[in-house]
Amino acid sequence: MKDLIGLSKEELQNEIAAIGEKPFRAKQLWQWIYFHGETDFTKMSNFSKPLREKLQQNYFISRPKIVTEQQSSDGTHKWLLEFSDGERIETVYIPEEDRGAVCISTQVGCAVGCKFCHTGSQKITRNLNACEIVAQFMVARDAYGEWPSPTNETRYLSNIVVMGMGEPLHNKAEVFKALKILSDGDGIAISKRRITLSTSGIVPHIEAVAQELGVKLAISLHAPTNEKRSAIMPINNKYSIEQVLEACQKYQAVMGMSRMITFEYLMLKDFNDTPEDARLLISLMKKYKLGAKFNLIPFNPWPGCDFQPSSNNKVHAFSKILEQAGYEAPIRVARGQDILAACGQLKSKVSS
Ligand code: SAH
Ligand code: SF4
Repeated sequence: MKDLIGLSKEELQNEIAAIGEKPFRAKQLWQWIYFHGETDFTKMSNFSKPLREKLQQNYFISRPKIVTEQQSSDGTHKWLLEFSDGERIETVYIPEEDRGAVCISTQVGCAVGCKFCHTGSQKITRNLNACEIVAQFMVARDAYGEWPSPTNETRYLSNIVVMGMGEPLHNKAEVFKALKILSDGDGIAISKRRITLSTSGIVPHIEAVAQELGVKLAISLHAPTNEKRSAIMPINNKYSIEQVLEACQKYQAVMGMSRMITFEYLMLKDFNDTPEDARLLISLMKKYKLGAKFNLIPFNPWPGCDFQPSSNNKVHAFSKILEQAGYEAPIRVARGQDILAACGQLKSKVSS
């Protein structure tokens, strides 16, 4: 028995051919799975009874087990999901004014080991496969009753941010495969302009985000100098700020300058939050001539981590300096505080 979720269109065609069916059946099946969200072969009304039985004998359409589900007073919704081997990850839905983003995880744990990140303190257990990545979005869509896939802009689940647990570019093949499925126009159909992949800066794969996928790019920068960045992000010893920004230039050469790159910047008290740090960031952006905007992230403390969040005054002053230089620099609003759920600060072990 084989799970059909996470197979590419081509792989699904091969499966259908293997059970002796015509190629158009693969197209119909794709629509049942990803447009209608159907998990039950017996409800696939345009299939004959023998075909439904054949599918049932060979395949299944899975959802991961929902271990817990919590909803915050601000509408943030968090699922703790468990896969067949018992490994668990979190998925979060973050509502925005007229729509919302689903924040998906790509690994169980993370090998990058950033000092401020709870996921990083859990080390890496394993990569998620395309099935497990796609299924996170499907669980959220089940919960909001958004099947069949809405075609208008009023849907709740309009965006995807790859900012959950794990480093997506350490699991490039499965993440790319999953994002191609999620953006496919015959199924879930989330536009590539509404998908953002966030990376700590795995330089060799950054250009491929443009070349092979065409989704938006966010870089976790968090410091304006190599010395400071290496102190909190060990990956910087392998790929320096300069190398990351050169890779960003390549991304923008493919995507066009208007496709802004978001630089995420965690505001850590007495570490990276002075006006001088802001000015250094501006020089970096000017030097590399990037179409860039910033996202200033309030640090979310967790037990065992020594950092503290910067004061509101400092964060606002920092934002103002960047904005005066012509860069958007909104301060991210902390979401789902009452259920310990905000994208990028997922805490499965603490909260479960
Ligand atoms: N590995 C990828 C994507 C997942 S992390 C990356 O690092 O970009 C997503 C975002 O959450 C990153 O910008 C990360 O720096 C941020 N983050 C991690 N720990 C955090 C914390 N304790 N408080 C606030 N943001 C955090
Ligand atoms: Fe991994 Fe991103 Fe956390 Fe760093 S911030 S440890 S790259 S998940």
